[in-house]
Amino acid sequence: MSTTSQTGTPAPGQLTFVAPRRAKPARHLADLTMAERRAAVAELGEKPFRADQLSRHYFDRLNGDPATMTDLPAAAREKLGSALFPQLLTPVREITCDGGTTRKTLWRLFDGALVESVLMRYSDRTTMCVSSQAGCGMNCPFCATGQAGLTRNMSTAEIVEQVVAGARELAGGEVPGGPGRVSNVVFMGMGEPLANYKAVIGAVRRLVEPAPEGLGISARGVTVSTVGLVPAIGKLAAEGLPVTLAVSLHAPDDELRDTLVPINTRWKVAEVLDAAWDYAARTKRRVSIEYALIKDINDQEWRADLLGKLIRNKLVHVNLIPLNPTPGSKWTASRPEDERAFVRRLEYHGVPVTVRDTRGREIDGACGQLAAAE
Ligand code: SAH
Repeated sequence: MSTTSQTGTPAPGQLTFVAPRRAKPARHLADLTMAERRAAVAELGEKPFRADQLSRHYFDRLNGDPATMTDLPAAAREKLGSALFPQLLTPVREITCDGGTTRKTLWRLFDGALVESVLMRYSDRTTMCVSSQAGCGMNCPFCATGQAGLTRNMSTAEIVEQVVAGARELAGGEVPGGPGRVSNVVFMGMGEPLANYKAVIGAVRRLVEPAPEGLGISARGVTVSTVGLVPAIGKLAAEGLPVTLAVSLHAPDDELRDTLVPINTRWKVAEVLDAAWDYAARTKRRVSIEYALIKDINDQEWRADLLGKLIRNKLVHVNLIPLNPTPGSKWTASRPEDERAFVRRLEYHGVPVTVRDTRGREIDGACGQLAAAE
């Protein structure tokens, strides 16, 4: 297994918060607010209303190719195109399964870093799972990305472009089920979104702002998933963006969580849950608790019981994820009977719980498997 990391494989439990210094991706229209777009266009000697035209092309029609924007004068097309539409993502390969309704794309960024996004179309919604960092510094031992270390933060536009690419496939009728739209975006690809806070918030704003500012996806359809960076959860709660928060808990006790989610050595289970309840209170949004069921590691009934006691009567939902074993891992998914007992125990406490479907598993597209195999 090769990795995209320049930093090498982290030692067990080692956390990396600051990405190594690297050249930044070029500025793109999707990095900018409407006011910034107008200023950028004016700086290039064009009338500010050109920013509105470009925005309609990109966010409304999903067109990122200035050469085809024929309502702009040819000279402006060239100038604005090279200044605001650099190619940020280059597809390396796309793999599909579930009859073409699950599609994983491996992307190469301008500096060679690899990231992945996954499109999942269901009968009632289409979800894009996007990456927010190349690699990840959080080093969870069961996660393929965590093992590769952190290469760099992605820019707002690099994140948005993954969603736009999926939106284009849907709009163009390439995904079985007829032309459609992206209804949901989950930050569950590579990276710890709250460790790349500014770029991720910028991307969330671009996703939820109505066209032509942004893509006009409902904030309720956007989920930011975190290992539990407590101060950043507080910051997110204050943004006034009613996105769903998902907390990757994976263990209800500090002793085990210290090893499964190493950030727990900094912020304990109780602190993470307090931040989550505060988030729920301020946003009125149900918090999602992610729990990968790992055979004989975290799937005991007593742990389900402890989890149930910690979170009962809260605005919460538990998402159990059968572990998707990473290559060479000694861990595997729980036995079906243990999974069922875990669910029953949580239900006994009145906690809403679902077992996540494992779409994309056969294409290594399920959570945390991203890009490691290239
Ligand atoms: N860094 C963020 C988001 C990325 S991972 C976070 O940790 O929440 C999205 C989810 O997939 C997380 O809950 C993560 O713990 C989980 N995950 C990672 N590797 C997995 C694996 N091999 N099997 C099942 N779930 C996994």
